[in-house]
Amino acid sequence: MLIETTHAIDPSAEPPRVAVERTRLIPAMALSFLCRCPHCGEGKLFGRFLKTRPHCEACGMKLDGHRADDFPPYIVIFVVGHIVGYLILTFEMGYDVPLWVSVTLWPGLTLGLVALLLQPVKGAVIGLQYATRMHGFQVSPPPRPGAEETRVGPGDPAPAADIGRV
Ligand SMILES: [Zn+2]
Repeated sequence: MLIETTHAIDPSAEPPRVAVERTRLIPAMALSFLCRCPHCGEGKLFGRFLKTRPHCEACGMKLDGHRADDFPPYIVIFVVGHIVGYLILTFEMGYDVPLWVSVTLWPGLTLGLVALLLQPVKGAVIGLQYATRMHGFQVSPPPRPGAEETRVGPGDPAPAADIGRV
């Protein structure tokens, strides 16, 4: 079967790359845990609860290419389960806790911790994917606001700061 393309592919038509150093792993995860852009740290990562913005408003970095999927809820369930489980065992074994306190306190505490942690943990997962070039973060990031640009021609090798930094 022959597939014809409507336009010729020109390898020299590649857009010029920009030598921009990617934020390292821990700072990128910390910035995005604080719901900031993992690249520049200035723009907001989320437009509303758990919904990432399409682009960073400060540097233009594409933010919606992540694949956080179910990993943030797994992390939150693991952490909150251990905290609340420990507290339930400690209080129920050590004190005579009234039933109405148990019925209201533990579900409320669980829901509160989940609501508090889910978005920052999703941000940290997005920061991890950004720093390790996973999924939608494989392309070189745009220059940071106020940073001096260094254009690289299509025939030049990739900038050293842009290769495999974690
Ligand atoms: Zn940004």
